[in-house]
Amino acid sequence: MKVYSPIPPLLLMVSILIFLVACQPQEKFQELNSEQLSGAFEKYKEESINQRRFKHAEVMPLVRSRTGEEFQVEEIGKSVEGRSIFQMTWGNGPTKLLLWSQMHGNESTATMALFDLFNFIEGKADEFEELRTFLKNELTIRFIPIVNPDGMNRWIRRNALDIDLNRDAISLASPEAVLLKNARDTFSPDFGFNLHDQSTFYTVGETEKPATISVLAPAYNYETEVNDVRKKAMQVIVGMNEMLQDLVPGQVGKYNDAFEPRAFGDNIQKWGTSTILIESGGYPNDPEKQEIRKLNFIAMLHAMQQIANRSYEKKSLEDYYSIPDNSFRLMDVIIRNLNLKKGVFEYKADIGIKRKESDLMGDFFVTGSIDDMGDLSIFYGYDELDASDLEIVQGEVYEEPFENPESLSKQEAIELMRMGYLAIKVKEGKALHGLPLLVLKNQSRIPSMISTGNVPNFFLAKNGDLKYALVNGYLIDLEKPKDVDFKQRMM
Ligand SMILES: [Zn+2]
Repeated sequence: MKVYSPIPPLLLMVSILIFLVACQPQEKFQELNSEQLSGAFEKYKEESINQRRFKHAEVMPLVRSRTGEEFQVEEIGKSVEGRSIFQMTWGNGPTKLLLWSQMHGNESTATMALFDLFNFIEGKADEFEELRTFLKNELTIRFIPIVNPDGMNRWIRRNALDIDLNRDAISLASPEAVLLKNARDTFSPDFGFNLHDQSTFYTVGETEKPATISVLAPAYNYETEVNDVRKKAMQVIVGMNEMLQDLVPGQVGKYNDAFEPRAFGDNIQKWGTSTILIESGGYPNDPEKQEIRKLNFIAMLHAMQQIANRSYEKKSLEDYYSIPDNSFRLMDVIIRNLNLKKGVFEYKADIGIKRKESDLMGDFFVTGSIDDMGDLSIFYGYDELDASDLEIVQGEVYEEPFENPESLSKQEAIELMRMGYLAIKVKEGKALHGLPLLVLKNQSRIPSMISTGNVPNFFLAKNGDLKYALVNGYLIDLEKPKDVDFKQRMM
């Protein structure tokens, strides 16, 4: 009598195979590529924001007006100076994402991209509807745009108590830090996106390429160990990097992963939320960071589709570690092999110039000074010039005063520069101007010191013909001037 019948080996193997396949994460969705996501940005860009420095009151209508079917909009508290901080929640899915921006007040690039994302989310019945529905069903996404509205309005990093919110995750001295901590604790997100801007002078490794976007899965201890929480963040970053390489090849770096026990990113990772840091850096000829805003939009939307699809689970940590580290090798302008004279010494040196912004009466102006000089062969410039066969020529002041800076167009100013004038005088005018040359009101001479910390202003000529002008840290090709938004102060 046969009481026991073993399963035939072949059937057993097939069953195991089916079981294993069933246990693999299934990709449910055909993900959009970089071109399609770029198209989504162009279609849904928030047109009312087109430069970095915007005020809290200007964008609050874009938050408050969204209360409706799509978003749940809640005021979660107020800043030191009483400005409202909101969270906005969208989607009904099981996986939770928390994105917060501008905890440093003067870092607004990701905030701009969040407003673009809100427009995308609210779009209807178009070629992106499938993605939208998929994200909505798989994810619950909570946004806290502008954690530091007081710093934002002053255009400073810190809050109104002069505290760096990103060093206040444990001490919680600031109301804004308390709000962010509570938001994380009550929501317990699976994934967190910590959105910042970094210096435009970061490069990708030792290359000349700017670190336009830097990424990091922050460490949760000094040993920089990798647990399952951090691993997931690293895997999502690998996918984001692949997508970004399509758009800005070689321009993605990895931020320093030293553990910072006071920072939010590091602690949120530690508290069990897979945390991704996105830092917006520099991009050539994009001072208002509008290209980088687009990259933020695409990177965030791609991260969302990867998380919803669980496609990130296939990414290898090797690919995370192979993203080059950030270096600090860029300057705004480098003039190489400049022919210099001091007393009896005739020598060549490179000069490296960095521009900085200073606030003035609700606006700002730019000053470009020499950051370093000598052998700058390990540095790169957004603008570079080899001046080996050029000579320095001092500029003249145009004799006849103009009524005000607006009496002259940019093109007319360039014409004057070609004739050897590096400055004009004006009788009156507002403190700031947008001309490529210097505008003198209170002083009569052109300052020009070729030494570190000083602002050099001069022409570079070849056999007596003026070829370039260096004005307040802007290098201007007199034959083919680029279209630049000059932000200068009258002197
Ligand atoms: Zn920051």
